[in-house]
Amino acid sequence: MKVGFLDRDGTIIEDYEDKLWSSITEPVFINGAIDALKAIRQRGYEIIIITNQYLINEKIITLERYKEITDKFIKILLDNGVEILDIFYCPHSKEENCNCMKPKDGMIKMALEKYSKIDMENSFIAGDSLCDIQLGERLGIKAFGIGLDKEEGRTIKIDALKDIVRYL
Ligand SMILES: [Mg+2]
Ligand SMILES: [Zn+2]
Repeated sequence: MKVGFLDRDGTIIEDYEDKLWSSITEPVFINGAIDALKAIRQRGYEIIIITNQYLINEKIITLERYKEITDKFIKILLDNGVEILDIFYCPHSKEENCNCMKPKDGMIKMALEKYSKIDMENSFIAGDSLCDIQLGERLGIKAFGIGLDKEEGRTIKIDALKDIVRYL
């Protein structure tokens, strides 16, 4: 099973400054993102979201609010015919120094434990932050940096998630 490990905020839905997130109750999908997810699925990839949500333990959003946005996120995708295999999130604050906050690989390890059939060699990671592509480098898998100036090893630079499709 090949997987697209995708960041959520700034990659699939709009991202905001940390403080602004306290007033956000709805996911706002980035133009073309849903079609991109469809195309990724059509190319035979399962989709797993891995998302840093330190805002939870930093008390900017509640866990309930995170879950509310996640439920809406999943529902909108399902309504558009896009199934997500799973979502892993890191709720920890930066000071907690956990093992799951990207660029650490804890969320990937959790995914590998839960889904033994993941074929990492043919999987990829995509995200709009340095931590996403650093994680890709750490794992040695294909990585896509969205809107990032910085290139890191094997990372492919793209402007938006929809640009991924031609590389898959
Ligand atoms: Mg992001
Ligand atoms: Zn964590």
